[in-house]
Amino acid sequence: MPPTLSTAPSPLDRLKSWVKTITFYELLVGMKATMTHLLRYRPITLQYPHEKRTLPDSYRGMLALLRYDDGTEKCVGCDLCEAACPSRVIRVVSAEVPGEPTKRYSKEYYMDMTRCLFCGLCVDACPVDALGMTREFEWAVYDKRDLQLNKQQLLAIGDRSFPVREKRLELQHRNVAFFNVAFKDLPQKPS
Ligand code: SF4
Ligand code: SF4
Repeated sequence: MPPTLSTAPSPLDRLKSWVKTITFYELLVGMKATMTHLLRYRPITLQYPHEKRTLPDSYRGMLALLRYDDGTEKCVGCDLCEAACPSRVIRVVSAEVPGEPTKRYSKEYYMDMTRCLFCGLCVDACPVDALGMTREFEWAVYDKRDLQLNKQQLLAIGDRSFPVREKRLELQHRNVAFFNVAFKDLPQKPS
């Protein structure tokens, strides 16, 4: 007959198990971890809204429409942000600039921020950097209709969040418009 393997615990294992049972060993191990965290780490609770976290540089907050430094709206009503948005947040009604048939602007611009994912695709899609993501996050409201923003509201958010504005494209170095250089890397126009 082939030899059979014994699975019964040895007397020493049984003794260890018994000692662990009567000394509440597992409970003590858990309490050790709890006490270590209690004594070693400081509390991280912040007393919001009196204390606020430092937001990371890459934070994506409320969206805003931007202007050039002379106050002109950057948006040219191209609808690319509307097409890029996966949540159908944006609705653009574009029109010709009065007296300038080759130029367009957004006559109306709406965002339903109850649907926004803060993915940033609309910002990336905009060819003239007319959209920005601010660091505003305190947008809790009692009525969700308050989160359906129009153009004037979005421009106001941009005005307070981006006080430093860039010059109009025609007043910048020609490479800016051609290569779509980011605002922070703008080369100076030769005088
Ligand atoms: S951040 Fe994303 S979800 Fe929100 S409006 Fe832009 S593209 Fe749409
Ligand atoms: S915000 Fe930018 S992408 Fe959207 S309509 Fe205006 S110019 Fe076009």
